[in-house]
Amino acid sequence: MNQPGQKTLHFASALIGQEWRNDVAIEVGEGGLISAILSEVKLPPSATSPLVAIPGMINVHSHAFQRAFAGLSEYVTAERDSFWTWRSLMFDFLMRVEAEEFYQVARQVYTEMLAAGYTSVGEFHYVHLDTQGKVYSRIDELAAAMIQAAEDVGLGICLLPTLYQRGGFKNEPLVAGQRRFFLNLDEYIKLVERCRSLAAERKNCRVGVALHSLRAVDPIIGNQALTALISSDPKMPIHIHVAEQVPEVEACLETHGKRPVEYLFEQYPVNESWCLIHATHLADHELRAIVDSRAVVGLCPSTEANLGDGIFRARDFLNAGGRIGIGTDSNVCIDPREELRLIETVQRLQYRERAVLATVQHSVGRRLIDETAMGGAAALGLNAGELAVGKRCDMTVIDPQHPSLDGAVGDRLLDRFVFCNHGNSPIAGTVVGGNFRRTRDCFDSSHSHGM
Ligand SMILES: [Zn+2]
Repeated sequence: MNQPGQKTLHFASALIGQEWRNDVAIEVGEGGLISAILSEVKLPPSATSPLVAIPGMINVHSHAFQRAFAGLSEYVTAERDSFWTWRSLMFDFLMRVEAEEFYQVARQVYTEMLAAGYTSVGEFHYVHLDTQGKVYSRIDELAAAMIQAAEDVGLGICLLPTLYQRGGFKNEPLVAGQRRFFLNLDEYIKLVERCRSLAAERKNCRVGVALHSLRAVDPIIGNQALTALISSDPKMPIHIHVAEQVPEVEACLETHGKRPVEYLFEQYPVNESWCLIHATHLADHELRAIVDSRAVVGLCPSTEANLGDGIFRARDFLNAGGRIGIGTDSNVCIDPREELRLIETVQRLQYRERAVLATVQHSVGRRLIDETAMGGAAALGLNAGELAVGKRCDMTVIDPQHPSLDGAVGDRLLDRFVFCNHGNSPIAGTVVGGNFRRTRDCFDSSHSHGM
């Protein structure tokens, strides 16, 4: 018999810690935390669910507004189109997005994330000002919209208010297309503090900080911001875009005589609270520095491919003990299976091998799910990432009878889940803080809020 406020969720099998267990009952207690896990239990007839639970998949990096721009930049605009020409189109697009549309687009894409099996999102939020570059009457106008959209949808969020002040490593001014980004240090600190009070009133909401990139923030100011904010939240997640593009590496070398990750470690006290988004272009010693620091690398495979960034050294990094998470970034793709598959597929194309990221113990699908669940939780500062007593009850729930899985069990189920894509998804639902939401119900209340 459950106590008031408690509930029990039943599964045919579940990945508990490192082990698969059958006929599982997961009890959810106060604050949406797992209070007990039982296996080999006789399920009540009302709960004869054939579903499978794995740790909730975590999206460490999103710019929600870019969902409305997805697929609208696939044409020639220059002699050689690139990340930078895409960025100009994206800036132009952003100038037309009004405050209320930020909420609507975020609500749409967060619904899609939940339906796709994500249980939390890291929202790297750098648009703070109105279309004219003026501060809104509430400094957290757009940031609060992100938090509200996630809450209305039922998706966990780690909001990452982002400092973005300059146009390049040499302190170049922002261009017109960047006029919605600039906050001075005092305004930025005020924004983070406002977001922290919004989060304190909500479940499944966390606030971290982000420096947009090495090129967009002078390290002197970046460090002042971190110092001012860290004392009241010593474990706050700290995110930054780093070494995504070769021209960025070249500009950093030219200005500072150092590669971006080298420069990052010289300028900042990088540790396990940090999440380095992309980290695509790494020399050996930079790769080693990230591994040693325990920082998480936030990979965004579908976006990195879409933008022609380059290939992250996934095999070297994981085999050295590095930690990774996945992110949807520009939101051209909302499907964690595709992000995971791409990480491995690109390595296969590069090395002309198969099962590149498998280990002796674990197949590719299993390893990528384990790594990105634990790495994702670390990157967003969440008490999640595995199913264990005391952890937040966040789960991705899979239908093993779906045609693409065809009754597979254990690690074979995860491999089919990642590598066998036959159209619609085998995600049956998600559990966030103990609340189970079936995928088929996700769009019921939000379709009317289209983009
Ligand atoms: Zn990004």
